[in-house]
Amino acid sequence: MRIGIVGGGQLGRMLALAAHPLGIRCTVLDPRANCCASDVAGLVQSEFDDVAAIERLASESDVVTFEFENVHLDALHTLKDSTLLPPLDALAAAQDRLTEKRLFRSLGIATPEFAAIDSIDALKDAIEPIGIPAVLKTRRMGYDGKGQFVIRDHAQIADAWSSLGGVPLILEGFVPFQRELSIIAARSRDGRIVVYPLTQTTHIDGILAESITPAAGVSDAMISEAHRAVSAVADTLNYVGVLALELFDCGDRLLANEFAPRVHNSGHWSIDGAACSQFENHIRAITGLPLGNTACLRPTAMLNCIGGVPPLEELAAIPNLRVHLYRKNPRPGRKVGHVTLSADSHEALERAIHPVRECIKQSAQH
Ligand code: AMP
Repeated sequence: MRIGIVGGGQLGRMLALAAHPLGIRCTVLDPRANCCASDVAGLVQSEFDDVAAIERLASESDVVTFEFENVHLDALHTLKDSTLLPPLDALAAAQDRLTEKRLFRSLGIATPEFAAIDSIDALKDAIEPIGIPAVLKTRRMGYDGKGQFVIRDHAQIADAWSSLGGVPLILEGFVPFQRELSIIAARSRDGRIVVYPLTQTTHIDGILAESITPAAGVSDAMISEAHRAVSAVADTLNYVGVLALELFDCGDRLLANEFAPRVHNSGHWSIDGAACSQFENHIRAITGLPLGNTACLRPTAMLNCIGGVPPLEELAAIPNLRVHLYRKNPRPGRKVGHVTLSADSHEALERAIHPVRECIKQSAQH
């Protein structure tokens, strides 16, 4: 069995690492000869929109998947439906924040207020009902908080328009959430769904910095609502593979922000903290294997190494810490690795996390 992965970054690397013990080999397609997944997978070196290269990847693979959602849809159209998993429709829905939010609403999933924006007049009109603060976002190609402008004052409307205008936009109400949560599910080829426990996520400058799983203090009603929401998205898209739904916890209700049609940074904890990781479950789902157990073994924190690699000697000296470095050259804001820390309780985890945070902070550049 061989899997082709469009994209050779850390997600491709961790997918290939999860496939290895199952006797499955991966080939990644990436323009960079030295991409970090190429350590552990075969490489088709090409641009992402090169149709001939995608066809070559498919001819060497039983199934093709992708590790980032801003893949060129046109280039993937040449693949048969059964070859590309998750399906093209899921990718298309996730690429456009407006389509995505309309999909959520059609499934009865609550979202922040939103409006499509294609002119400064439309922006001025939408500000009134949505209110200030509001977040203006590009509909496409946004990630890690890029392509966003928080409008806190009417005087900023022109600035927001001039910094983002010219491409299709969406205006969203700014949600005064209590915290952010993420829920990850895997759906098999025969429509079975398994769901990981809810993860609490903390972002700095729009980039995920830390997560804790299971999220503490979530009511049963919220857990069921999150399960219902992620399952509804997966079912309606006839999804196969792992997907992540990002949520705002507003205390009395959950609002859906976005979904990622792929393995997700908020699920990295599962390599060390779950019975079966999100990466293995993605491999299992797309190759038609039964899905693995999503149970969290112990409360687990995940901390991203952003913009710098902390000294390995220091990390390795911390008890119960697992280190995952991606062999990427550090630059500000770039995720170059992550660590996980497990403990017997959330309280013990909170105590143990402090020195890890300090160690990572010294090398971090946001
Ligand atoms: P996104 O690219 O949509 O995932 O946004 C990145 C981060 O910006 C989120 O994780 C939130 O921390 C913040 N954010 C995005 N949209 C909103 C919103 N409507 N209200 C408040 N914060 C938001």
